Amino acid sequence: MASITKESLESKIKSILISEQEIQNAVVRAGEYINALYDGKPILLVSILKGAFIFMADVLRTVTVPCEIDFMVAKSYYSGTVSSGMVQITLDLTHDVKDYHIVILEDIVDTGRTLHDVVGLLKERNPLSLHVITLLDKPDRRVVEYTPDLSLFTIPDLFVIGYGLDYDEYYRNLPYIAEYGE
Ligand code: 5GP
Repeated sequence: MASITKESLESKIKSILISEQEIQNAVVRAGEYINALYDGKPILLVSILKGAFIFMADVLRTVTVPCEIDFMVAKSYYSGTVSSGMVQITLDLTHDVKDYHIVILEDIVDTGRTLHDVVGLLKERNPLSLHVITLLDKPDRRVVEYTPDLSLFTIPDLFVIGYGLDYDEYYRNLPYIAEYGE
């Protein structure tokens, strides 16, 4: 296998789709949405790892309502487009969500499987309320019906990297969203 170099990684960054400034403007919109929706009520911000960790860190600093954070790692099992109804949680929340208004922050909605299943699972735990904000949305790729409460950017069917999103664990450190290509 060829070794990874700075140049080999940079050569696969095809084009910048969303600039650092555009992302920061969208982060402010996410914060305004949360602050208006919850109007002073305590909330639990939940980020699905790993891709959404930078988005979470930025949105967190725009939130003015009382706020705690938690993380989960989830994988959904499907046969074709049909969910087995099983979502495997390899890292679960440490909070008992029935005491909280939950806001899930996701990096990207693609087939919709992950959020469809995670939202179903968390609703069974009876939170006070649950809303989902995604940074990116690829509606053309949906195989299960799922619509987030707020999508900050709708993008075409491309594989994207940067701002927490990886290809083979690289590129999460890019401050912008770019198209990945060989
Ligand atoms: P789902 O298909 O369940 O809606 O999306 C599951 C996960 O696939 C996302 O949270 C994300 O980690 C990954 N994913 C989907 N599309 C892309 C993409 O364009 N780039 C990257 N880096 N990850 C993606």
